[in-house]
Amino acid sequence: MKGEIKWGYFDKMRPTQIEGIKKDYPIAYLPWGAIEYHGSHNPTGLDTHKAVHLCSLLAKEVGGLVFPPISLAANLIKSYPGVDFPNHSIEFSEKLIQLICEEYFEQLAEQNFKIIVLLSGHAGEPHLQILRDVASQFNKKYPEICFWTLAEFDVIPDHLLVANHSALGETSLQLYFEPETVDLDCLPKDRAITLEIDAVSGEDPRSSTMELGEKIANSFVENASGKLDDLIKKYI
Ligand SMILES: [Zn+2]
Repeated sequence: MKGEIKWGYFDKMRPTQIEGIKKDYPIAYLPWGAIEYHGSHNPTGLDTHKAVHLCSLLAKEVGGLVFPPISLAANLIKSYPGVDFPNHSIEFSEKLIQLICEEYFEQLAEQNFKIIVLLSGHAGEPHLQILRDVASQFNKKYPEICFWTLAEFDVIPDHLLVANHSALGETSLQLYFEPETVDLDCLPKDRAITLEIDAVSGEDPRSSTMELGEKIANSFVENASGKLDDLIKKYI
């Protein structure tokens, strides 16, 4: 018989509460974000907020423990070639990202989690590839545990969302999760949106809506929980 409470925030729970959830749902969610300039219309922590909200929705659906977000990322817009946005980002080295990921995975394995879901809200490269590669290494090292690094767009169909920076997809998600933090009026009305001026990569964010954000979030939860159901059969 599975316990009544199936999910929670790891850092807001006492040890017996954690163990109560973990015995039935030994799944850890690691929301991995960034502090990164996201144009004039979005907050700098968009990638972090996106990862936390999506992990929380997934944990609510499937069960498990959501860890506090890691807002450390490499390969930010601050250092994109050909653009000039030096402010409002805090960037870390690729070496450090790899090390932090390894130390988290190692200790989550020690604490008997059977499935570890790392959701990266930041898709800069090789930042994301580093997190995927560490997961592959740990899957070989601990074959009885599943380490799954993903970005939200891995499990969402392209017609709803593709990898983007502060464009239609990310802005709609942020509008859905934390509407008070978005201001579409900061975007120009009389010209095309560009990467060079607006720090937007992807579809025009001016038509972003909460409704689209909700659709994207629902699609994520549906598809990621389907994949997790398969992993649970195999690993738990
Ligand atoms: Zn972003």
